[in-house]
Amino acid sequence: MACIYEYRKHPKLYTEYAYDACMDTHCASSSWPQLSQQNTGVLSRDAGATALQTVHKVFTYLLKPLSDARCQTGYEMIWADKNVRLCFPKLFCWLADHRANATIHAIASNHCPVCIVLVEKRGKYSETGYPRRSHADYITTYRESDALSLNEQGVKNINNALWSLIELNPLDLVRADILYNILLGVWTHMIDWIQDFLEHYERINVFDYVWRRLPPYPGFCVLTKSYRVVSQ
Ligand SMILES: [Zn+2]
Repeated sequence: MACIYEYRKHPKLYTEYAYDACMDTHCASSSWPQLSQQNTGVLSRDAGATALQTVHKVFTYLLKPLSDARCQTGYEMIWADKNVRLCFPKLFCWLADHRANATIHAIASNHCPVCIVLVEKRGKYSETGYPRRSHADYITTYRESDALSLNEQGVKNINNALWSLIELNPLDLVRADILYNILLGVWTHMIDWIQDFLEHYERINVFDYVWRRLPPYPGFCVLTKSYRVVSQ
């Protein structure tokens, strides 16, 4: 549990927990063809499902305070102002990269945790979008032991820990990961593109000059080197 977001909602106080996830996703590889563990280190399909189920049993245990009877009646918590308030913890989001999301949502790592876009259509624009996943249906299908139907949608045939949480739609947990999605993804791609563009028009030196002369303001460290020469 990395951070807690709190806000007041009259007359009750709600506390929303954001979990920062960083976990071993080895078991998420269970949808891959069965290979010899001795030769490849990849778990067989059954071993992968068992490992993932164990992970979700641990999740279920850890998330117990968000699913037990007291989460309905409220937990008394001491606040920074020393007052005791009634809190209703909710799982709000789970910051994770795609591999970790595959584990958390118990899906195959080559599938989207939010929609059921076909593998070959990923990355392609769609006017209509793709149907969103229905965990309510997955619960029913799991209880009917219909592993084949789950597998067709890239869903693991395990008892998902997120299903134990009241009024939670697992799709709502997915958020952009600032580090991997924005800073190391969009930002890096964008700035590389801009630099190529400026070099092409012989304006890169002007860009460097402006970059190094950005004025200071609270929370901002003044840059002394051009962006190009800073590796991280
Ligand atoms: Zn999707």
